Amino acid sequence: MAATILDGSRIAQQIRSEVATEVKSLTAAGIRPGLAVVLVGHNAASEVYVRGKVKACEEVGVYSEKLTPPETATTEELLAVVEELNRREEIDGILVQLPLPGQVDAKRVLMAVDPAKDVDGFHPVNVGLLSTQRPGLVPCTPAGVLEILKRSNIAIAGREAVVVGRSDIVGKPAAMLLLNANATVTICHSKTHDLPGVCRRADILVAAIGRAGMITRDFVKPGATVIDVGMNTVSDSAEFQRFFAGNQKREESFRKKGSTLMGDVHPEVAEVAGALTPVPGGVGPLTIAMLMFNTVKAAKMRRGSRVPELSRA
Ligand code: NDP
Repeated sequence: MAATILDGSRIAQQIRSEVATEVKSLTAAGIRPGLAVVLVGHNAASEVYVRGKVKACEEVGVYSEKLTPPETATTEELLAVVEELNRREEIDGILVQLPLPGQVDAKRVLMAVDPAKDVDGFHPVNVGLLSTQRPGLVPCTPAGVLEILKRSNIAIAGREAVVVGRSDIVGKPAAMLLLNANATVTICHSKTHDLPGVCRRADILVAAIGRAGMITRDFVKPGATVIDVGMNTVSDSAEFQRFFAGNQKREESFRKKGSTLMGDVHPEVAEVAGALTPVPGGVGPLTIAMLMFNTVKAAKMRRGSRVPELSRA
């Protein structure tokens, strides 16, 4: 039986509308959550991402501000930008869009963000809060993975979860969130022996690798839930054919655009998995929705109010 497709766009829209309601009541109480996005230079992909973030702010009623230091900005100059944003009362969230130009010490700049305004959840203080199960700001993409599972009523507690990928941005925090939700968690990476065998233990398999279609049916236990975080651009037509031959919709869009976006999970997995997130339209839309959620959470936490959980634990 074909896997149930978990509709990330629908879940993201649901979260955005909950956040918009929350923003409305906060604004009525005189608190308008505000997000500052720092976009250094002219990276085309970053410009697209930042446009999406600013648009989401407008949609949910969050105040937003875009700062655009030049490509030649130094570490010291960016530290000054971040410190100014740290001081400003009306700014609740600070997001430094990555990647930063080569001359900049990115770690130093990210470390300078006030942890209370760190809506990306990358600061070691927030990493520590997550790993000790204290309230803090959680990285947006992994938080989105958990929202998809919870809102799709997929049980986590007591189940085997395998996360492929151990980055600070996705793999590790996703594993920590699954552990906090009482899954038994295994983290895999490029040195893992018998990766297909380890993955086949998973009731919940999270792929955050960055390799198009690497997770084939041999990696998946029948009936497992598969969450595909990967975002890979396929522009080679032989590679495209290998994955999508016979898929008319994909073929049409590939002809038009010359490329297609696909995840780390091979399309054949839909024949084995119980549930599966698509790419596009799976985890991707959750990332911006959770950024909006984090901005509101930061606005409330900075003012000392307790933040209710978005969805059932
Ligand atoms: P990184 O490159 O930082 O991490 C990739 C991880 O995959 C590493 O831990 C690496 O292992 C592991 N890996 C690579 N090759 C293999 C292999 N052959 N077998 C097993 N493990 C392997 O990537 P990110 O975590 O930043 O991103 C992962 C994917 O998620 C990318 O496609 C990215 O575009 C996507 N992404 C999507 C987002 C969204 O909004 N949907 C947001 C962020 C990322 P090792 O540590 O040993 O090198």
